Amino acid sequence: MISVEEALNILDNQVVNLPAVEIINVSKGLGRVLSETIISPISLPSFRQSSMDGYALNVFDSFEYKLVGESKAGDQCLIKLNPGEAVRILTGAHVPDSAQAIVIQEHVQVNGKIITIESIPKEGSFIRKVGEEVKKGDSTLNKGFLLNEASLGFITSLGLQKIKVYSLLKVSILITGNELVPIGEKIGTGKIYESNSVVIQSALYKKGIKDIRVFVVKDTLKDTIQSIINAFETSNLVLISGGISVGDYDFVKVALDKIGVKKIFYKVKQRPGKPLFFGEIDNKFIFALPGNPASTLNCFYVYVSQFLSKLMGDTNYSLLRLRAPLKNSFSKVEGRAVFLKAIYKNYQVFILEHQQSSKMISFAHANCLVYFNEGSINLEDGALVDVLLLR
Ligand code: AMP
Ligand code: MG
Repeated sequence: MISVEEALNILDNQVVNLPAVEIINVSKGLGRVLSETIISPISLPSFRQSSMDGYALNVFDSFEYKLVGESKAGDQCLIKLNPGEAVRILTGAHVPDSAQAIVIQEHVQVNGKIITIESIPKEGSFIRKVGEEVKKGDSTLNKGFLLNEASLGFITSLGLQKIKVYSLLKVSILITGNELVPIGEKIGTGKIYESNSVVIQSALYKKGIKDIRVFVVKDTLKDTIQSIINAFETSNLVLISGGISVGDYDFVKVALDKIGVKKIFYKVKQRPGKPLFFGEIDNKFIFALPGNPASTLNCFYVYVSQFLSKLMGDTNYSLLRLRAPLKNSFSKVEGRAVFLKAIYKNYQVFILEHQQSSKMISFAHANCLVYFNEGSINLEDGALVDVLLLR
């Protein structure tokens, strides 16, 4: 059994093969990971640009300027200003070469063709210089960058239409448990509705993974072995729900051993989710997640999610951690590390009721997990605690 920190370190240091590369339209890039560094083909801005509405001046030792034209957004302004002359200029418009400064319209009095300013402006004021954001040939976004809406806008502003990204992962989910009934069917006593598949699938969708296969596995060694083999045939990553504890009908660990999956770790000193398994075979990886719904999701958030990012080629991913004051008191005795479903709001964190691993209601409301390591804890409200943000 290893500690949470050890498990996280192992995942962090695990060497993985990166996916193949494909070329896509920038407009389809949300959630994809760059497999190339974006070298800017142009400077931004590519011409001297006004940042305000006002007047561009050929600065002269005077407060009065003669208005000789206009430059609006979209125009190329070829007007040659003599000292003491100005053009009306609008935000985003080309600044003529002969203008050294812009005075914003709020500081100008206009009288027909004559404008009066209040003070001599500093050279370059309200003029965006060529290349002040990026210069042609600059490295901008690095290989391994996870694309969000802002980066797609930025890449588009460089005039790029196509980008190289890593191919999407294929993931298989194996659902074990003879007590589970699919929704749509009636449940009798002793049965429960199978819900982990929707949880894991949805969490994968959020990571941008769409190619997902779900296998329902009977609690027999034979079926477990066959399903794991089938899943590995088409997937980069296999996630198993349940069957990894030490009960009489838990066949996953034995099946993994029989198939020859190399154990990287098994069992983490944590609650929920102690029997978590992580292993590898032929450069493909597998997590066996304890079946209690809150354990499954907790393990997904804390371990699987970051490892998926790594498999996707995302080099920047990390859990979003912060320290925040508790809104309620909390105590625990020395023992396993715990992750507690909680709500972070208004700079405070509130630990929810219903922390048992069979219960999902608190997880449904939670937007973070509060983490305590293995030591004993006796905290009053206001004490600073470790928070992992989930949203
Ligand atoms: P296991 O890890 O297989 O021992 O499962 C632990 C408990 O989690 C079981 O008793 C079930 O009640 C519950 N469970 C396991 N798998 C699922 C699932 N797919 N959906 C909902 N509950 C599950
Ligand atoms: Mg089971």
